[in-house]
Amino acid sequence: MSNPTVDKPKLESQAREPRLWMPERVLFTPAALDEPWGQQILSRVQSLNLPVEELPRNRLTGLRGEDERETYNKSKRTLAVVTAPPSAFKLSPIPPSADWQFHIAEGCPAHCQYCYLAGSLSGPPVIRVFANLPQILDNLAAYEQAGKATSYEVSCYTDPLGIEHLTGSLATCIRHFGTRENANLRWVSKFDGVDELLDLPHNGHTRCRFSINAAPVSGRFEGGTASVTSRLQALRKLALPRSKGGGGYPVGLVIAPIMPVDDWMTHYDRLFDQINEALDFDCNLTFELISHRFTPGSKEVLQTWYPQTKLDMDEAKRSVKRNKFGGTKYVYEADTMKRLRRFFEDEITRRFPQGRILYWT
Ligand code: SF4
Repeated sequence: MSNPTVDKPKLESQAREPRLWMPERVLFTPAALDEPWGQQILSRVQSLNLPVEELPRNRLTGLRGEDERETYNKSKRTLAVVTAPPSAFKLSPIPPSADWQFHIAEGCPAHCQYCYLAGSLSGPPVIRVFANLPQILDNLAAYEQAGKATSYEVSCYTDPLGIEHLTGSLATCIRHFGTRENANLRWVSKFDGVDELLDLPHNGHTRCRFSINAAPVSGRFEGGTASVTSRLQALRKLALPRSKGGGGYPVGLVIAPIMPVDDWMTHYDRLFDQINEALDFDCNLTFELISHRFTPGSKEVLQTWYPQTKLDMDEAKRSVKRNKFGGTKYVYEADTMKRLRRFFEDEITRRFPQGRILYWT
């Protein structure tokens, strides 16, 4: 990672048009249409010629199918523009990723068979976006302490880039944080449509991250996302300095969920080669390393969403981790965890000396 090279013929020849999700239905509640930001989203979806339905009440109904699988299929094709409920204005901490999480949407158009949202969000997995964004952003200042940098994660319940062409909400968040003195924004994605973000006045206050994985994991389990190559190409654009036509953002890679698949060292080694190739210049880079885990609740939901999945969720091969609220997680056994962790930490330290590992979990 030393000589800056603007042109990357190999990577660029592999890059395609960005992967853009187009919903089959777009629903608006009356309250969402009353919001200026809701009207802005309406203009965007109309300009894309998407079919818009105005609901009679502020409730989403009629999303269920005959069975869970059909409910899933209908929901994942539906964008619902709603107002965030009052509970969205009481923020929760989100260690180790950031101090606080806030939400511009709930639900994600992709189809990852290990999805982190399974079991976290209730009801059909329709993609709900919030029309009262200015109020959501105004509320954040209450969580900042004078003289102390405060970080906010905006991708806990959605992939904000995956719906950005329909909402413009992520760009608005980036602009907002660009004006805050002591507040930083973090987002993560498996999509790649970043061109509209490159020129935003982010002021270095937003860290853009992509979630990536080794080919056997991304190829088998990550439906509806941009390819890992395209994600890395998007990361490159965001990280390149403005003088080279890039976004000049701090960036990050979330390698997740890490799985000890057959020949895992070779596959993850190849992934590091790809990162090296995409980021062949100095940049402000972090790594977050997350091993695969599941809960009894997430396993149950994932098995109804993806009944044919080959994802290994055999409790007998895992260790149990309990949290302070009595919840149970199944993680890899200590020996496997130790081997994985050592490999990732050693490789990153060796290959990306200026990259910072934020955490392993
Ligand atoms: S991108 Fe993230 S939120 Fe979306 S389906 Fe995949 S794991 Fe779930």
